[in-house]
Amino acid sequence: MPRPARHQAPTHADGRPLKITFGEMREMGLRGVLVYCHCGHHVALDADRWPDNVRLSDIEPRFICQGCGSRGADVRPAFERGNQRLAIIGMKEAAN
Ligand SMILES: [Zn+2]
Repeated sequence: MPRPARHQAPTHADGRPLKITFGEMREMGLRGVLVYCHCGHHVALDADRWPDNVRLSDIEPRFICQGCGSRGADVRPAFERGNQRLAIIGMKEAAN
C-alpha cells in the first residue's frame, strides 16, 4: 500500500512519532528521562540502562503505570536533574 506523500515527521508503525535515541540524548549531556502517564503519574529514570541505538519512543509501550495500570507512556529527556519530587510512584517497565 503506497504511503501518502505528506511532509510529516517519521513515525512508528502505530503512529507514534519517532523520538531521539538515547545516544543522541547523551550527546546533549542528558543522563536521565522522565516517564509520564496520561493520568499524571510520572517517574524519573536513569537512562544508562538503555543502549545508544534505542529511541525514547521505542520504550514507551513497555511501561505500565503503577497509578492507573494503563500501558504506554510519554518518555522525555530529563532536562532538569535532581528534582526528586518528580520521582514519585510511577512506571515500571513491563517484561515485554
Ligand atoms: Zn497512569
